[in-house]
Amino acid sequence: MFKKILIANRGDIAIRILRCCKEMNINTVAVHSVIDSNLMNVLLADESVCIGPNKSFDSYLNIGSILSAAELTGADALHPGVGFLSENEKFARMVSDHNMKFIGPDPEHIALMGDKITAKKTMASFGVPVVKGSDGAVESPEMAEEIAKTTGYPVLFKATSGGGGKGMKVANDSSEVSNAFKMAKSEAKANFGDDNIYMERYLSDPRHIEIQIIADNYGNVVHLGERDCSIQRNHQKLMEESPSVALSPEKREEIGEIVTKAVKKMGYVGVGTLEFLYENGEFFFMEMNTRLQVEHPVTEIVTGIDIVKEQIKIASGEKLSFSQEDVKINGHAIEFRINAENSETFIPSPGKIEELYFPGGNGIRIDSHIYREYVVPQFYDSLIAKIIIHGRDRDECLAKSKRALSELVIDGISTTTNLHLKLLQNKDIVRGEYNIHWLMNNLENL
Ligand code: ADP
Repeated sequence: MFKKILIANRGDIAIRILRCCKEMNINTVAVHSVIDSNLMNVLLADESVCIGPNKSFDSYLNIGSILSAAELTGADALHPGVGFLSENEKFARMVSDHNMKFIGPDPEHIALMGDKITAKKTMASFGVPVVKGSDGAVESPEMAEEIAKTTGYPVLFKATSGGGGKGMKVANDSSEVSNAFKMAKSEAKANFGDDNIYMERYLSDPRHIEIQIIADNYGNVVHLGERDCSIQRNHQKLMEESPSVALSPEKREEIGEIVTKAVKKMGYVGVGTLEFLYENGEFFFMEMNTRLQVEHPVTEIVTGIDIVKEQIKIASGEKLSFSQEDVKINGHAIEFRINAENSETFIPSPGKIEELYFPGGNGIRIDSHIYREYVVPQFYDSLIAKIIIHGRDRDECLAKSKRALSELVIDGISTTTNLHLKLLQNKDIVRGEYNIHWLMNNLENL
């Protein structure tokens, strides 16, 4: 097992990994920007190193600085967390070149899934259903119209190197193709420095359902069921639950089998998530995240499996200690993302936390780095806490959620707490009747 892990991240996810290391008797190194010197994961770590100025580009994305910190402290492994450099093939390679274990998949697999067109082609070749669309990049509006004859309208243009739901454009019929094509291309260039775009049929009533997988070096691949992440604002997840009300046990088994087979064929090692749209009983693969995900706790709660611990064990060469038959879904879990932002406009709300009270009690898990008088900086992601609730069934989980969120106090800044409380009063949410468009369509009437 590793002796010392450098955690190349910040905030709640860095604490999540740090807690795991402590339980496993592994020493921890925190890295931080100048403003983050009083971040809770820095205060809790065995050692810490300042890796640069506040802008992410100069610190959390500064490969040279992070590798120097690792060498300086003698870390033998590095956990990239989520976001930042967690899906950067070059970084993963450089970590290995510096004789450290990168706690993640092989760089080849990061690269393979990083290009969205290649990812779709690869998964399709392994028997995973993908959404109909172009085979590769779309070169012209004329080409797009030709492709739309086979997919049908509406269609969606997406950036090949895209992420974060940025730059996607819909064309409802052929008259809208030319405009949507041009806008998607120029936004792709502006956001990702690459103007390649591809095309997909645009689904009007899908849910976002993703399957968590975990694979070791010995060919064992196990799936841990699904997460339903359909409650999104601007294509970004806000609330996640497991299991999904939309899946029957048979459907879960069917997609789980397809996914584990594909991951095995790929030779993938580590934890990962395959994201799908799900409509009328059909799955459509969108992309694979080759890392831990923000919403992993809901799966941990219902399966009882510590995904981060398993991830570290696999990276150190251990065999998976459980098989597919051992994985049982117990009750229901929902994660509420508490972001430092206005709950109506989603405009970030950095600043000092004047008062703080976290709920507690049976079945309440809090993953957070904030404390009273902590100042939420303006430089990073607005996520400040994840409240994860476990109930014996969905009804109990909803009742506990309402109770827990109404106890939560975070004063001094705006947060998404009120929005979650409103969601919990809503009939559609209570019945589980929602799709990926639901939140944006219903925001004004909540
Ligand atoms: P990103 O990498 O930007 O997150 P994704 O491909 O994962 O891009 O898509 C983000 C979100 O956009 C999805 O969760 C879904 O809400 C929406 N979306 C993506 N593809 C489609 C599609 N073909 N039809 C309808 N909505 C889509």
